Amino acid sequence: MRWTQTFMPTLRETPADAEIISHKLLLRAGIARKLTGGLYTFLPAGVRVLRKIETIVREEMNRAGALEVLMPALQPPEIWQRSGRYDTASEVFFRVKDRARKEWILGPTHEEVITTMVADELNSYRQFPRNFYQIQTKFRDEIRPRFGLMRAKEFIMKDAYSFDCTDEAAQTSYQKMYDAYSRIFKRCGLQAIPVEADTGVMGGKFSHEFVVPAESGEDEVVYSEGGRYAANVEKAACKPFEPIGTEADAALPIERFATPGVGTIDDLTCEPFGVPAWRQIKTLVYVVESKPILVLLRGDHSLNEAKLTGVLGTAKFRPATADEILELLKAHPGSLGAVGVAHVPVYADEALRNCRGMVTGANEDGWHLRHVVTDRDLSVGRWADLRTVRAGDLCPVTGEPLKLRRAIEVGHVFKLGTKYSIALNALFLDESGKQQPAFMGCYGIGITRTLQAVIEQCHDQDGILWPATIAPYTVCITPLSADPNSQVMQVAEQIYAELGASGVEVLMDDRNERPGVKFKDADLIGFPIRVGIGEKSLANGNVEVKRRGGALTAVKVGEATCAVRELLKGCLANLNLP
Ligand code: ATP
Ligand code: MG
Repeated sequence: MRWTQTFMPTLRETPADAEIISHKLLLRAGIARKLTGGLYTFLPAGVRVLRKIETIVREEMNRAGALEVLMPALQPPEIWQRSGRYDTASEVFFRVKDRARKEWILGPTHEEVITTMVADELNSYRQFPRNFYQIQTKFRDEIRPRFGLMRAKEFIMKDAYSFDCTDEAAQTSYQKMYDAYSRIFKRCGLQAIPVEADTGVMGGKFSHEFVVPAESGEDEVVYSEGGRYAANVEKAACKPFEPIGTEADAALPIERFATPGVGTIDDLTCEPFGVPAWRQIKTLVYVVESKPILVLLRGDHSLNEAKLTGVLGTAKFRPATADEILELLKAHPGSLGAVGVAHVPVYADEALRNCRGMVTGANEDGWHLRHVVTDRDLSVGRWADLRTVRAGDLCPVTGEPLKLRRAIEVGHVFKLGTKYSIALNALFLDESGKQQPAFMGCYGIGITRTLQAVIEQCHDQDGILWPATIAPYTVCITPLSADPNSQVMQVAEQIYAELGASGVEVLMDDRNERPGVKFKDADLIGFPIRVGIGEKSLANGNVEVKRRGGALTAVKVGEATCAVRELLKGCLANLNLP
């Protein structure tokens, strides 16, 4: 391709509303353009990158035995009603009406559609296992579309859905996708790390997110230095805490004491009280589907709502209002406690088990209780891990202090169990002729988010450093003269023809621009290899070959094609997997 024949508008200035580096480079390098918030047009260079990522994804899905399908983006609401997600997922729906005023949903995901298809088509254990995937545009009414392609209203996703006869077989399907994802991200030149992820109301153990560590990421992951533990903070656990207090503390009876003006955990840590936060019990009041519950944590710990969702089996809960709390416990936040509370279900975090000498609110403004023994004085209905892990907590696997970092989620693999197959009637006859629901898994990769995540990870001060597998072009020839009759251009044409003939995706910068502009643009867009051709080096019979971000080498004109192909091999060495 010749530069003058394609459309790669680069920008010198950084567009004002681009916040993160990958978003800036996406626009500056002419990969995409914004239509309006959350909606982007891919320009020719961007489409080339997209198609290459999609090809890698397709190859790996096919290799893993998944079958490509293409489902409608427009979905009838009835299937969402049947799966039970019409209400829970409704806030992300884009809805449209047809001429008969009937409502339709622009698909944010396709569990309901594929399960409906499978319910109709697969009836016998002989027809399993199956895994269907598609690469398609998804629509989500995100609360905060931002960061370019990272969180868009409309984006391209690869989604796959596996169907198996047993839970063990579903585990095998899950592992295949996990392995395929590892290969996909490696081949895209992206260092994406699998981390244990929250399973929400689905419960169960098997969900991993593939994340790209980045300051701009919207996810937070917890990990141990050696790499033996990594989890999304929504899911992360730590080594259990030692119980607070001593035998002597346990012998003391509860005592009420005055705490005038105390309204928070912090207030109570101050003089004259001086009760450290870890000696206090934090009492939170939530309303779950209109019924109140108490949630107890150590005063220095904080609630993880994702974990609470898993424990409650529903995400339909909210903090109680001050009025609701007053009516329920006859006190204001700051003086709340669970001692003697029998009329409200109590959920307590594991770290409070067996703690002695604790302090909690007395359910009377300005009063607290001390010498509380959790196992003696509280009627806890359910103990569970409810707290958010913090940096410095100990790793559940190795015992080392855990670390926290931000990350971008690019993919997600999830064992779904039989929720959708039961709801949507995806049943089959097993070997003994008994009807059973299929065991499902679902697997997503954000294709457009992955593209931008590569930029976020692979760039320097001059621009993008595309991995050779997904670069819009792998080689850019930069003749320093655009005059067709110049020797420079003739050599450029010769190398261009030779590289093209040997299958290299080569771009000829035939623009009549100053060398500085051409070099800057080539670096900004980030072609893996650049061949510079100028009068000076030609006088010595040389051209200049340079790997993006590497050093310049002088190569004889006659050896240029060979040298470039060797260099390209080097660029691809770690990206092409067996
Ligand atoms: P997030 O927590 O970032 O909203 P999600 O859990 O909603 O992601 P999934 O429903 O698992 O995401 O979708 C699969 C993949 O699709 C994600 O891993 C991500 O790469 C991509 N994705 C999800 N939402 C968006 C979006 N609004 N814009 C671009 N890509 C997205
Ligand atoms: Mg989301």
